[in-house]
Amino acid sequence: MRGGPITDREAYPAAWITLAALAAAFLIWFALGEPTVSRCWVWEHWHVYCPGCGGTRALIALAHAQLGTALRYHPPVVITLALAGAYLLTQTVWRLRGRRGWALHYRPWWPAAIVGLFLVNCLARNVLWLGFGIAM
Ligand SMILES: [Zn+2]
Repeated sequence: MRGGPITDREAYPAAWITLAALAAAFLIWFALGEPTVSRCWVWEHWHVYCPGCGGTRALIALAHAQLGTALRYHPPVVITLALAGAYLLTQTVWRLRGRRGWALHYRPWWPAAIVGLFLVNCLARNVLWLGFGIAM
């Protein structure tokens, strides 16, 4: 990459590498007997939710095919993985068909939208927790 905006040329292999790393981490975690993951440092020390709080539990729920539970723990994780899955699927089919037909194409605003989703989720969870005592 030479400093230009990220395109499908970079995003497509990066998405596969990320998916492979997640799959490898899951297989290692599963092979170790599904050990308990340590709790969030922010939660443990300040008793507020960070943007990632619930993300690991959502991934574990997804690994057990519990979509509703995953959505309750951390909707942005599920949305991000669904977007990544749709992107990889449509891009792969598009590439196999000689770059014809429709496919999702990477847009430079996607990372900002995903970060925004995580921040809105964090804000909503903390309002529910601090304002109404509803723990997630
Ligand atoms: Zn956290």
